[in-house]
Amino acid sequence: MPFPALILPCWLALALAVQPALAADLPDLGEVSRQYFSDQEEQALGRAIMRDVYTDPRYLDDPEIESYLNQLGYKLVSVSTRNQREFNFFVVSDPSINAFAMPGGNIGVHTGLLLAAQSESELASVVSHEIAHVTQDHIARMVAAQSQSQWPTMAALALALLASRSNPNVASAAIASTQAYSIQNQLNYSRDYEREADRLGYEMLTRGGYDPRGMSGFFTRLERANRFYDSSAPAYLRTHPLTSDRIADMQARAEAASYQQVQDSLDFQLLRARLRAQEDSPQDAVLASRNALKEKRYSSETASRYGLVTALLRARQFREAEAEVQKLLADKPVHPMIQQLAARAALAAGNQALALQRYQAGSTAHPGYRPLQFGQIEALLAASRSKDALALVDRQLALYPLDRRLWRLAAQTHAQQGHRLLSHRAQAEAAALSGNLVAAIEQVSLGIKAGDGSFHELSAAEARRREWQEAEKSQRKK
Ligand SMILES: [Zn+2]
Repeated sequence: MPFPALILPCWLALALAVQPALAADLPDLGEVSRQYFSDQEEQALGRAIMRDVYTDPRYLDDPEIESYLNQLGYKLVSVSTRNQREFNFFVVSDPSINAFAMPGGNIGVHTGLLLAAQSESELASVVSHEIAHVTQDHIARMVAAQSQSQWPTMAALALALLASRSNPNVASAAIASTQAYSIQNQLNYSRDYEREADRLGYEMLTRGGYDPRGMSGFFTRLERANRFYDSSAPAYLRTHPLTSDRIADMQARAEAASYQQVQDSLDFQLLRARLRAQEDSPQDAVLASRNALKEKRYSSETASRYGLVTALLRARQFREAEAEVQKLLADKPVHPMIQQLAARAALAAGNQALALQRYQAGSTAHPGYRPLQFGQIEALLAASRSKDALALVDRQLALYPLDRRLWRLAAQTHAQQGHRLLSHRAQAEAAALSGNLVAAIEQVSLGIKAGDGSFHELSAAEARRREWQEAEKSQRKK
């Protein structure tokens, strides 16, 4: 396997060695000027970026992993002293070790980071650092610091930010011809920003109950890995290596903290087992999982078995998978991710009744865990029970009206019921929530043209279309 590229755009803007910076001697970065880059503009930029993310094949559309990451992220946000913002955490399927903050509180994490972190505290340390970049308005400051005439269109800026953060190699090729290319370098965080994000990230880490040594441990390993870099590394990574002074700061802070042993959550172990079981060929994944389990090379037997079932399902060995599922279900209480896997195993083996029974048990036991609700709705649709699916969709939408996955399921449910207006309308809502207003207007127009639906449904759809048209027009002006 090739050595995974270590791409760390936000940790790069590091220069000369300075004294270890403890809390007291942080520079005052001042209030951010919102004159040239308003909060609304930042939100619009964030939406434009997420529209690109959601259509990027590397975006990992996995509700369970995304749900875990949002839980971890919000746990850290909730102990931040500056937590008035909204956040959205998402996962990018990419083997490089990376995490990045985007305008509008959108924070991306590469699967490479999830797999490389040796503890949950290490993952939390990187995520908290990114959260601090958001709470401190670092991107808005960088944008505001430039004179306005230098900025290209919003779309080009969105592309430049996304590309330079998530994948600098692709960035150079994809945007070399655009204006955005010239501004890429101006979007790297300064040393002061990095120090501020380190310090506030550390605060969140300790307050959130994570091991502060996770931060220095992880960055030290990264520094070592960087030494093996060859000429294919991004230019700015070679010119701005991870310096030892930031690591020294982290170590000084960690040593000053009281010792605490922090256990990784089962969620963290399950999602890593899942990601690992999805690498390699299905047969190799089964073999690796079986060996790990037999030789007891695991930190959690449950997670290890969970990984084995994932691999067995990929290899379409349904009978073997079911035997392992039985062992997992014997352990009470059953974790929602295990309940979901059990239902999926039944569905894959063609046992629809058992799958629905497992989904029902899971959503009763964990009513707040949305991925189980999604799975149950899908299973009901697969069984052509659209009336039951609709009842569940409506109940969930009343609770989470901004969930684009729920709206997509609502569209499928209405389609199965033969409701054309409502189906297009739901698809339009999903598109709008993914940042794509043009597609939303198109879909709702198709719905209005469909000619079914009540007078009330029709006027609601028309009102919604007017709203989106206004928003789209004002966005285009900018
Ligand atoms: Zn940073």
